[in-house]
Amino acid sequence: MKQWGPSTAAVHSGVEVDASTGAIIQPIHMSSVYVQPEPGEFKYDYGRSMNPDFYPLEAALSALEGADHATVVSSGVGAMSCLLGLLDGKSRIVMPSDVYGGTYRLFQRIFAKVGVEIDQIDMTDLDLVDKTLRRDSGTTILYAESPTNPLLLVYDLRKLSEIARERNVTSVLDSTFASPICQNGLALGFDIVLHSCSKYISGHSDIVAGALMTNDRETKRQLDFTRTSMGLHADPMTMFLLRRSIKTLPLRMARHQSNAMTVATYLEGHRKVRRVLYPGLESHPQHDIAVQQMSGFSGIVSVDFDLDLAAVSKLISNFRLFKLAESLGGVESLVEQPALMTHLKIPAEVRLAHGLTDGLVRFSVGIEDADDLLDDLDDALTAI
Ligand SMILES: *Cc1c(COP(=O)(O)O)cnc(C)c1O
Repeated sequence: MKQWGPSTAAVHSGVEVDASTGAIIQPIHMSSVYVQPEPGEFKYDYGRSMNPDFYPLEAALSALEGADHATVVSSGVGAMSCLLGLLDGKSRIVMPSDVYGGTYRLFQRIFAKVGVEIDQIDMTDLDLVDKTLRRDSGTTILYAESPTNPLLLVYDLRKLSEIARERNVTSVLDSTFASPICQNGLALGFDIVLHSCSKYISGHSDIVAGALMTNDRETKRQLDFTRTSMGLHADPMTMFLLRRSIKTLPLRMARHQSNAMTVATYLEGHRKVRRVLYPGLESHPQHDIAVQQMSGFSGIVSVDFDLDLAAVSKLISNFRLFKLAESLGGVESLVEQPALMTHLKIPAEVRLAHGLTDGLVRFSVGIEDADDLLDDLDDALTAI
């Protein structure tokens, strides 16, 4: 059978009419305990290991990511925690210097404490990546994230996964910023793709969940085993809401993208703007790589305003539609100032050295009418 397109898969994958009632929407199984017909004979035993609500969700996620398997977990960080199950006594994670804050905290403060070596390197330097992976350090994971937060740097994912394969290293990609609609890391050669489902995949700012996708059956088995062993499962209500949200993911992403492009183009021409970072703009430093490895550019736009820290704070507090909040990927437009919010704990010298300027603002462009978003930006910029 020909494979469904993403919009069909988003609506139908894993969804079956309930046999006992004919309900088109599958019921939520709010049960932690399952009765066994005979001792030891069961499909489900206990809510931490398995629940019927996992299936439609994992089927939809694998269909959208182009994966054979998906494992749904409690959060994006829970998905990273699951990687512990793939490591052993002598292990190492090689990752870029600009990973998501929660990733840095988990790997550097928890994994490193129990002996996992953490190497943070510049992943645009492919020779350095190769040299680092060549060093024998036991079980190694190459961990990449693209596009990055908040500078929207795009790494060459095909090349990175190739180097990992040559060095016999497991490659993992955090593809949260792209969503499965704009980027499919397994097709680019990665062994595992992980997502925070708290962002675009759920898309309504009301769920915390995560997922890992892979084509390897043994990896899926290990991830499931780790989920059960470490208590990283998602709860039935969250899984129900997530499966429901996924039905509109392709539609939402189409609007996020076109709105983001409109906002990026408008701001790129504004006199109070120094630089706009959006992978869909030709001016983006890795635009060519983005075109090759992404099927869309998603909805995050970062802007370096020609304003000081205080003026930027004032500007972004004056928006009516862009709500001042961390996180991203919801239907409502959000705005945040990395220097005072998501990246506040980074010392100013380090932050500035990494290009996180005082004027930097990250927009998560929602699915509102583009004209209203432009009016909101225009009014606040005129007032400043
Ligand atoms: C939010 C986020 C995470 C963490 O996900 P949670 O669901 O909040 O645990 C990981 N990576 C990226 C890129 C994110 O944006």
